[in-house]
Amino acid sequence: MKPTHIEHIGIAVKSIEACLPYYENVLGLKCYAVEEVADQKVKTAFFMVGQTKIELLEATSEDSTIAKFIEKKGEGVHHIAFAVDNLVEALSETEKQGVQLIDKQPRKGAEGLNIAFLHPKSTCSVLTELCEHP
Ligand code: ZN
Repeated sequence: MKPTHIEHIGIAVKSIEACLPYYENVLGLKCYAVEEVADQKVKTAFFMVGQTKIELLEATSEDSTIAKFIEKKGEGVHHIAFAVDNLVEALSETEKQGVQLIDKQPRKGAEGLNIAFLHPKSTCSVLTELCEHP
């Protein structure tokens, strides 16, 4: 696998609204989309920095993985997402290399991307997402 770029960095926050002034007024980035991903129980807000996005993640339910993450580790960087050209191929390659996959098959993420997560046990403790533009 050879990622083409960092697609986005996912950041877990308690409140997107509370974080907007920092991203918009201090960094001067424009929030161009707010989207709820129902099956993940999160609300997301996106900012573009070059070809990389910042994805703020706010839990919409207490049993959301984001709520659990914040409870355990506090707010902060949640995952890093690499763009790949062929996600199915990248997953089968990484699995052959002994990497533990959270998603064996691609699924739909925010913005209609095909995504899959690799387990932090196999990625030096950083939750890692691979994504492919359909
Ligand atoms: Zn992500």
